[in-house]
Amino acid sequence: MPNALVLAVRAACADALALLLPVSCAGCDEPDVGLCERCVLALTPAPRRQVIPADGGGLTVWSGLVFEGVAARVLRAIKEDGRTGLARSLAPAVRAAVARTGVDADVALVPLPTSRAAYRRRGFRVPDLLLRRAGRPVTRLLRHARRTGDQRGLGREARRSNVDGSLAVRPGGPPGVRVLLVDDVVTTGATLAEAARALRSAGAEVIGAVTVAATPRNFARPGEHRPDTFETHR
Ligand SMILES: [Zn+2]
Repeated sequence: MPNALVLAVRAACADALALLLPVSCAGCDEPDVGLCERCVLALTPAPRRQVIPADGGGLTVWSGLVFEGVAARVLRAIKEDGRTGLARSLAPAVRAAVARTGVDADVALVPLPTSRAAYRRRGFRVPDLLLRRAGRPVTRLLRHARRTGDQRGLGREARRSNVDGSLAVRPGGPPGVRVLLVDDVVTTGATLAEAARALRSAGAEVIGAVTVAATPRNFARPGEHRPDTFETHR
């Protein structure tokens, strides 16, 4: 695991490089701007709700944006290109999703854990960064209990068995704590359901989950039958 100094130096270098290298809008490639006004507008939150199956009761997930277009490009720029400064532009989506849960202040915002490999590659944890940029405290209660395969390209059932039993509660995670899970994107919700299982089996009360964005396949288009889809609130 990289030590804090290495990470701090790397972050400082990235900031310095950002001043020297030409930038372009993460949403539309317009030159000389990190995120243009039109793309900032495209990140205006439009919270949506879905309920995913989970042990101990369905898990309500609020997402601030749909994972497509500008939102998808900005999230990829943060995750794959290390443009962490863009996380601030997603803060309204995080805050809107948290607000829609309607839970009061005494709830712990618990990010899904980042794998060691991803942390080594990026030097930061995506859900934690998004929470901090939204001005919310981060309560890290979860850890990986085992390695998992890549979720990409797997169907719903395969994703669930891939992550089953993969998460555990960190030592000192108090029983009885009220939790909202936090992640960047929800696809099938298999990882969120596994996080809920781990926390509930350790005695925590998992109230729901929030994500910056949800993949569009989670939501019905008019006239389309989607048995996995629940209502949308704006
Ligand atoms: Zn743009």
